[in-house]
Amino acid sequence: MIKIGFIGLGHMGAPMAMNLLKAGYGLQVFDLVPEAVAQLAAAGAQAATTAAEAVQDVNVVISMLPSSPHVERLYLGTGAEEDGLLAMIRPDTLIIDCSTIAPESARKVASLARQRGLTMLDAPVSGGVAGAEAGTLTFIVGGASTAVEQARPVLMSMGKNLFHAGDHGAGQVAKICNNMLLAIHMIGTAEALQLGVNNGLDPKVLSEIMLKSSGRNWSLELYNPYPGVMENVPAARHYEGGFMVDLMSKDLGLAQEAALHSKSATPMGTLAKSLYELQSLSGKGSLDFSSIQLLLRKATDEVPSR
Ligand code: NAD
Repeated sequence: MIKIGFIGLGHMGAPMAMNLLKAGYGLQVFDLVPEAVAQLAAAGAQAATTAAEAVQDVNVVISMLPSSPHVERLYLGTGAEEDGLLAMIRPDTLIIDCSTIAPESARKVASLARQRGLTMLDAPVSGGVAGAEAGTLTFIVGGASTAVEQARPVLMSMGKNLFHAGDHGAGQVAKICNNMLLAIHMIGTAEALQLGVNNGLDPKVLSEIMLKSSGRNWSLELYNPYPGVMENVPAARHYEGGFMVDLMSKDLGLAQEAALHSKSATPMGTLAKSLYELQSLSGKGSLDFSSIQLLLRKATDEVPSR
């Protein structure tokens, strides 16, 4: 049986790990939060008390961590001798990092992995928590073709689509471009809905009209930010759960770094980064990113209570 070591059981990692269990893989799990480990253990995974224990005698290692420093720290360690996971994983193991991180970080870790005879892929995902739960994620993968084919059955147990974007780091570049666009159309959608409401329209009616018109987009169709328009989206539960403002802000920061690096003009991406930064500064960093709607509402509007 193929055994997988899974590290990082947050909003995304926990449901992804659940789907690996359902697919019949042997699973060893670790997270800094013991309750997250206990939840997976109750479903049949083997609980590890350290990351090193989770990667003992496995064929595949998967990580799903917040950002670049977390991933570099996990695999490369503190700089002290041999305290990163790369020094502890056996050479024939495939490493798949599904976190959204800087392309430079992904390339650095993959290159150090290669020096140790390890194969690594960057495989950030799209599809959100709902996609992670339903097993319908899209994996955007960077690395060698042979490794991508090796990873395919495992990734397809958690998703529906797999794109090979190119060499190491390419998965991250594609993911960053996608999330910059996502932030821009989420802000645009919230802005249009607020303008309609401020001018006497019902947000449900306006949403229906725009869905059949040229303003149609993913945020409007599947993730409406205006409370009361859709069920089963973060706006229907006071923006709890989903994809945190702080993580979106991180991704927009990565897009800005990439823009600087490549001398690209990203005026909308720059503005989106500032708006999500403001949202975070106003204490809403842990809300879902569709809560950007709250930034646009009038002070006299009924604000959803938390
Ligand atoms: P999260 O904060 O909910 O989960 C991260 C988990 O990693 C936490 O449980 C944390 O305890 C754990 N962790 C951190 N450092 C660790 C370490 N050293 N060892 C073990 N566990 C550690 O974040 P998330 O929403 O699950 O997102 C994870 C990644 O996926 C991020 O890079 C994010 O940008 C990306 N992503 C998120 C979504 C979404 O909708 N939430 C969608 C697509 C991509």
